[in-house]
Amino acid sequence: MHVHYALKANPDARIVAEVAKAGFGADCVSIGEVRHAIDCDIPANRCVYSGVGKTDPEIIEAINLGIECFNVESLEELHIISHLASHIGKIAPIALRINPHIDAHTHHYITTGLAENKFGIDITLFDQAIRMATTLPGLHFRGIHCHIGSQILTNEPYALLCSRINELVARAQQAGATIEYINVGGGIGVDYEQPASNPIADFQGFFDTLRQGLILPTGAHIHCELGRSIVAQCGSILSRVIYVKEGLERRFVIIDAGMNNLIRPALYQATHRIDNLSAPSSTPTAHYDIVGPVCESADTFAENYPLPRTRRGDILAIRSAGAYAASMASLYNLRCPADVIYTE
Ligand SMILES: *Cc1c(COP(=O)(O)O)cnc(C)c1O
Repeated sequence: MHVHYALKANPDARIVAEVAKAGFGADCVSIGEVRHAIDCDIPANRCVYSGVGKTDPEIIEAINLGIECFNVESLEELHIISHLASHIGKIAPIALRINPHIDAHTHHYITTGLAENKFGIDITLFDQAIRMATTLPGLHFRGIHCHIGSQILTNEPYALLCSRINELVARAQQAGATIEYINVGGGIGVDYEQPASNPIADFQGFFDTLRQGLILPTGAHIHCELGRSIVAQCGSILSRVIYVKEGLERRFVIIDAGMNNLIRPALYQATHRIDNLSAPSSTPTAHYDIVGPVCESADTFAENYPLPRTRRGDILAIRSAGAYAASMASLYNLRCPADVIYTE
């Protein structure tokens, strides 16, 4: 099993360096991420590169850097990589990212494997894609890639994915192709409700499902791309309460972190556990809307959320902020990025 860390979850150099030390490769979605992975000591030949919109310069640079594999997302991209690789006299290693029409039962903004999603080559075009991948010049066809979504909390979608991949492998082999790379993507969910008591994602269930479900051709290796499940529980956002504001119908806790630091609630209706680190545990509870200072009503971390009675100056911890928080941060409202503090 080859694990590629999905850099976009958290590209912090110290984290990527830990990942490199653990012997993982990288899953990149831009040339910036490929360069960064290499800078953080992940070898180029352990970097895989996905994305629906790879530009010509990005493709050429990735070929020259010697990446392990392009996960190709359209027939158009196959043509372009073939053309560019031939033009510079190189062979590009490629896998076909197939959209397998599997519902990952997650928020619609983070499903990627349904017919309506922009990602991957539609499964109905598979035979044509295999023909092209094995005959166009400048390409070394390595295998099949799928990534069906993120924050997936049951193994059932992965079991379905395994049988879908088995069918595709058989079809590719019938067409005379050799499969050396099977990449099942990532998406393992984490517990945003009880991060302290359940900090480790269900890696065991995921790997067992793959072991039981995939029929591995001789010489083929399984790859996966894990982001959130590796880093989400490693970080909290610490934020100070600026005001407790008595609204007409609601009581607002206004904190100095905003959607510019953590956009998941605004973008995907995600919820994070929030603890008041300043209130003694004996403090009676009240219900609050916990909001940031950004000029958007969507800048809300929780509604009607129970906290020990909270006062100006208290420190709140927004949990499970190790993934898709800092990496999605923006300067919106010209707010400063948060400082990152490391603890062992
Ligand atoms: C984002 C992404 C991943 C990682 O998803 P997680 O839910 O963070 O595990 C894996 N593969 C691809 C292609 C991605 O875009």
